[in-house]
Amino acid sequence: MKIRVLGAYGAEGLAQRPSAFLVNDTILIDGGTVGGALSRTEQLVIEHALISHSHLDHIAGLAFLTETLALCEAPKPLTISSLEPVVKALRTTVFNDALWPDFSLLPTPGKPIVKYRTLLEETEYPVGDLWVTAVGVNHTVPCSGFIVHDSTSGIVYSGDTGPTDALWKAAARLKTLRAVIIECAFPNRLAGIANAKSEEDRKELRQRPDLRMDALGSGTDYTAFVDHLGIASLNLFDNPHSTASILALREGGTSTGFELFVSSTERFEARVSSRS
Ligand SMILES: [Zn+2]
Repeated sequence: MKIRVLGAYGAEGLAQRPSAFLVNDTILIDGGTVGGALSRTEQLVIEHALISHSHLDHIAGLAFLTETLALCEAPKPLTISSLEPVVKALRTTVFNDALWPDFSLLPTPGKPIVKYRTLLEETEYPVGDLWVTAVGVNHTVPCSGFIVHDSTSGIVYSGDTGPTDALWKAAARLKTLRAVIIECAFPNRLAGIANAKSEEDRKELRQRPDLRMDALGSGTDYTAFVDHLGIASLNLFDNPHSTASILALREGGTSTGFELFVSSTERFEARVSSRS
């Protein structure tokens, strides 16, 4: 599985792009940024968008992507897959012919550029060459994380979430888990780590079992990739590779982009095999 970080920020600024991840060149996980990170040719082969929720920093790039697909006569439509309330929000508040054209009717209703697919929670669906399960998480609007895998490797993407048991329980069932991409504007219970003044204080907090994600074994056998740049959340994981991972995502926010090959490194394979 190849994951390209198109953006890993919760907003837009110079060399900072909102959250979006491109899997195997054709499947978006969230679409905060698309055209700002990809060439026209790269955009035209995108066939699916898994959307966690309707906040702009996760969907803004979809607007311009759909326009590009329409104007360039993309060979295949874009299928947007989300939980039912998220699909409804996109249809009624974004692609509603007021804020942006309703591309589910364009260029013709019979051959539209956008199709919608409603996902039931905790149900696995084929999406392109992957399998995808949406898991509802806690946010200010309806939102899901995604469990995504192929025959050899899998990832967990949190969407925007406060503390969630459901996602970690679902993740723990994925035997080929290679990586976790987690939004980390801090949950309140981790404020102590976020605000710790010294490394000594952080070290002490890290040892508190109540601040760990127990369902995943405290990160000893997977790598966490942190979205939204909550650096201190790295302290959740006693994983020697975490520092490299956060640097990768920060780089992903720049104009150069960054490609991350999840299943092609020995260390990920080794980490996963150590779980069983
Ligand atoms: Zn949000």
